[in-house]
This record gives sequence, C-alpha cells and structure tokens, in this order.
Amino acid sequence: MPIGLKNIFSDFLHLLFPEYCYACERTLVPGERIICTYCRLKLPYTQVHLLAPEHNPLAIRFYGKVPIKYTWAYLYFNRAGRVQRLLHALKYKGIQEVGEVLGNWYGHSLREHGLDSAFDMVVPVPLHTRKKRQRGYNQADSFAKGLAQSLGVPWSDKVLIRTRNTSSQTHKSRPERWANVADIFKVVDPISIKTKRILLVDDVMTTGATLEASALTLYQAGCAEVSVCTIAAA
Ligand SMILES: [Zn+2]
Repeated sequence: MPIGLKNIFSDFLHLLFPEYCYACERTLVPGERIICTYCRLKLPYTQVHLLAPEHNPLAIRFYGKVPIKYTWAYLYFNRAGRVQRLLHALKYKGIQEVGEVLGNWYGHSLREHGLDSAFDMVVPVPLHTRKKRQRGYNQADSFAKGLAQSLGVPWSDKVLIRTRNTSSQTHKSRPERWANVADIFKVVDPISIKTKRILLVDDVMTTGATLEASALTLYQAGCAEVSVCTIAAA
C-alpha cells in the first residue's frame, strides 16, 4: 500500500477504534502510541542511571548478596497511579507494547549517556513454564526486547529458565541462598553467556530477591558481570 494511502487508512481506523493511553485512559492523538505525551512528561522517572553506583539508592538492595554492576529501574512504582496502570495493562491485559515502548524509551536514554556499550546480552527474568502458559507471555520479555532494540544489544529468553515457581530468599543466609538458587533458575546454555556482561531485566524490583537469585545463577554459569534493569522500583 502506498504510504499516503496507508496513513489515511490508519487515521480512518483510529476514528473507528480510538486508542487510549494505558496510563491515564485519555484518547491518544495520531502520532502517539500506547502512552500519551502528557503522561510521558509526568511519569516518575528514577534517573538512577545518572548517579554514581555508590549514590544509587536501589543498589543497596544487593549489597552483601551478589555483585551487581548497574542497578536501574526506569520508573518509581506508585500505587493507584500511572505506573500501576501501565504495569497492570502489561501484566494482566496482554498489552505487551507497554513493555516494548518503555524499553525503547529507556534504552534511548541509556544510549544518550553512552551506556549501550556496557552489555553483551539482555536477558529477561523467566517465568515458570506453567505460569507463562497461563498468561501466554512473560511480562518481562517485551521490556527486555524494547531495551535491547534501542541499545543495539542482542537479547535472549532462551538462556535462563525457571525450574521452580516461588521461593523466598529473604530469610536465608548467604551460603543457603547460593545452595537454594540452584533449583530456582537454570542456565540452559552456559557457553552462550560465558564471559558475557549481562543486563538482567524484570518488570518490578521489590526486595530484589528474584533478581538476586537469577544473577547468582548467571554467575555460577560463568558470565562476567550482571547488571539489573526493571520497569519500576517499588
Ligand atoms: Zn496518558
């Protein structure tokens, strides 16, 4: 279809089926996608990628547990706010474009600060196969993909798998944690991550326990360095 015709067609579709901002539910205008311009300006950005690691408040969650090179979250989680609505759309309404758009935007910001050369591979924290089958997708995948695209770094959802659904690392000592992670996550193909600098991606960072367990598994399999990045930090 010629481009002019394609635009007319998409404007026509827009009239018939207006799209809504997943952060505020207002109708999007042509040129906007998934999130309106106003919400994009108003989102609670953490900007932690601009801080020195020792001044990054999120990094503390991993101190004494596992070495993490960079600890980033794009947004602060706010209950009953824009970020919660975006995460809800991503996680429960099947709107994977939410993750992709946010990943793209954050990837561009990271790139502007020369941080795109800090990684060899982007790896999402996997869901257990059963849970993934129930939901139909892993909500971390689209954010990982969006980030990887704009950083120009390959991504893979095949190297790390989850063998057990839930486990709390919080009350375990360090040796217990190391022993325990062995049966939560597994690296399927250790050769593919050997000596690689991995950017580990998830949707929300709370205590950091899941990211910690994934990172430990990646280190045990021989990667060089792990950094973490999530859509939001609670
Ligand atoms: Zn909006």
